[in-house]
Amino acid sequence: MNDRQSDSGPPITNVHTAIYTFPTPDPEADGTLQWNATTAVTVTLEADGRTGLGWTYSSPAAAAIISHHLAGVARQHPAFRIAEAWEAMHRAGRNYGTKGLYLQAMSAMDIARWDLTARLREIPVSALAGGRCRDAVPIYGSGGFTTLTDRQLEDQVHLWRSIGATGMKIKVGEAWGTRPERDLQRVQRLRELAGPHADLMVDANGGYTIGQARRIGHALDDLGVTWFEEPVSSDNPDGLAVLRQTLRCDITAGEYAADLYDITALLLAVDCLQLDATRCGGYTGFLRGATLAASRNLDISAHCAPALHAPIATVVPNLRHIEFFADHARLEPELVDGAATAHDGHLHPHAAIGHGLTLATSAEHHRVGQ
Ligand SMILES: [Mg+2]
Repeated sequence: MNDRQSDSGPPITNVHTAIYTFPTPDPEADGTLQWNATTAVTVTLEADGRTGLGWTYSSPAAAAIISHHLAGVARQHPAFRIAEAWEAMHRAGRNYGTKGLYLQAMSAMDIARWDLTARLREIPVSALAGGRCRDAVPIYGSGGFTTLTDRQLEDQVHLWRSIGATGMKIKVGEAWGTRPERDLQRVQRLRELAGPHADLMVDANGGYTIGQARRIGHALDDLGVTWFEEPVSSDNPDGLAVLRQTLRCDITAGEYAADLYDITALLLAVDCLQLDATRCGGYTGFLRGATLAASRNLDISAHCAPALHAPIATVVPNLRHIEFFADHARLEPELVDGAATAHDGHLHPHAAIGHGLTLATSAEHHRVGQ
């Protein structure tokens, strides 16, 4: 039996990180944060002459965590030992905090290992994860930053309609919930642009108080909004749960969940659990989180990173959709080759070996470090 046929696989011989920064066309903001660029930290794992790629949208500090803390751990576990390596990386972070930045770095490592293992076995990651239950994955359009002009919002909605997305999400909670009238005006504008049959979705990024969110939520219900994301902070699951019992629209959260403890805290607070494989422990954490959500009859929705989520989302029975987030949808074709294309309201991931994504030569223009 050779390395590739064993259940351990060949040793990891190289771990390489890179940092890429993609400026946004204009400064952007949601209810509680402003930004003018997106940073992707990639990691490449090598074994037996093959490479696997993972990344996270994070701080350049994630690359330092990989170099200082995770690369050495990775080398101690042969390529196919995905679960064993996950546990070892998690334990190695005990004294630094096993959430946030550390888990983002770990997520990139885990995704790279899934890709590497699948490539060495010459199968898609979906086959490694048990096989597809769907070939195309529903998406919804997402962006609608509070900084957009009317014309820019119109352009985004036009793009979402052109790819067949029927769900469309904009940011509300502008300036920490201090401009509620403008929030509601922008939702009305979205309805005009999206048409009477679109699913209107909003994301307050935790910008409202509970009382505010209840009052605005009733107005959103009247406007036909079906999705109210993080009306209050996701660190306040009790607040989310109160709103879930009060409002007609779905209450959703989960994008910052790092582990099963975080997810468990949200299960009775949301109607749909959001999970981000680049933050919650990679494909391993994503699949475990989806299973936990299924135990409460909840759908999950993948947060951001559509290129990375599409291949693994094909295997999740309780998946509602993937967020086709404007910033990531724009940069991912520059970062990687092989991203699934969007049409008919779905992403259609190729049945490629691994996750099918490799660093694009165009990414080099955006590389700022390693
Ligand atoms: Mg959000």
